[in-house]
Amino acid sequence: MTEPPQESGSRRSFLKRAGALAATAAAGRAPAAQTAGKAETPARPKVIDCHAHLHHRGRASWEADDRALIDAADRLGIDVLCCSMLTPRRPATADGFRECNRWVLDGAKRFPGRVLGYAYVNPGCGAEAVDEVRRCVLDHGFIGVKLYNEHFCTDPIVFPIVEAAIELGVPILQHAGHIHYFLEDQPRISDGARIAELAARYPEARLICAHVCGGGDWEWTIKALRHAPSVFLDTSGSVPDDGVVEMAAKTLGVDRLLFGCDMSMTNGVGRIRGADLTDDEKARIFGGNMAKLLGGRV
Ligand SMILES: [Zn+2]
Repeated sequence: MTEPPQESGSRRSFLKRAGALAATAAAGRAPAAQTAGKAETPARPKVIDCHAHLHHRGRASWEADDRALIDAADRLGIDVLCCSMLTPRRPATADGFRECNRWVLDGAKRFPGRVLGYAYVNPGCGAEAVDEVRRCVLDHGFIGVKLYNEHFCTDPIVFPIVEAAIELGVPILQHAGHIHYFLEDQPRISDGARIAELAARYPEARLICAHVCGGGDWEWTIKALRHAPSVFLDTSGSVPDDGVVEMAAKTLGVDRLLFGCDMSMTNGVGRIRGADLTDDEKARIFGGNMAKLLGGRV
């Protein structure tokens, strides 16, 4: 989801601050590629992008584009990317999402240790969607479920997927955004309030509200999640506004924030590096919280 151009003062001050702090932050951290395979390298917390995508093979350049994603992660010090793949046309058919998940599995094999998979399903496919979630997690080690906008997350048709995710102990990354007008191409987009409502119904579910910086009213989203303590917030998105991470940390607590890029990579990293938080808090957002959420799968 994209956003109209942002107010330039905000963008400039963000970039200035992020740039200055990035230099400090980067000094203590080497890109993953340089440390890979060196057993003597002191352990540092892994940097985990909780929201990434591999490229659909309907796109001629998919292989080079996937490689470019990993190269960018190397340069930015991102160790692990939690990836899903969406069908180019939606609502997805069962054949369509199964094909995407097969390709994500192949991506995890092509980039071992770097790519982890979310199983993308359309809950409208009923038992086929639930079976796919089980197959991906149990047989192929996928770490979560990705839900898009085929249905509101509060639609009962989604509940069997949530129940399967609870049983399997994996998080659900729910596409979301709160926009103050009707989105014609996304009539059933979920928002923070719907995710909070789902969390009230299933407090044991591990729900991630996707890309708070993906466009729309991020302040509204943060406030909507205030009383849903089991919901995590993914910091990804292309909107470079000042103050999102600070407000989210203050309102929700640092331990509910998960670093993500959703393919806006320098923006995603800079937003955390440049935030007015301690190094320890940043490390938790960058990967500590997600590692905990994944319970040793990373
Ligand atoms: Zn999304």
